[in-house]
Amino acid sequence: MHEMMINTWDFGMPMVTMWLMMIVAVALYFMPTIVAGYRRHSSLFLILVLNVLLGWTMLGWLLLLIWACLGDSHTIWGRPAEKKCPYCAEYIKAEAIKCKHCGSDLAKQETLQNGTASIAGGR
Ligand SMILES: [Zn+2]
Repeated sequence: MHEMMINTWDFGMPMVTMWLMMIVAVALYFMPTIVAGYRRHSSLFLILVLNVLLGWTMLGWLLLLIWACLGDSHTIWGRPAEKKCPYCAEYIKAEAIKCKHCGSDLAKQETLQNGTASIAGGR
């Protein structure tokens, strides 16, 4: 039993595993572009080109990924981000500390709502 398992590995990995690893590797390689695309990054095309050219260098890949994560995005900085008022369920400005619809004080929710706002901003 034990020898058979070792033999399987000696012949190399099964094709399915090979393909899966290829797909994962490609997905990892284009991670900066995927992140930038998901965030509708304003420099998406530039990131894609640099990703193809510099993605094989660990430093270039890492810098592109950071750029894709931190760079300006249309959805977050292009127009004001909005959050949902937990009291009346109306959408208000993310920076608002007081709801314009029901007048509730939202200052206490600030940290919690910031996380929700950035996720909702991806739409
Ligand atoms: Zn409200």
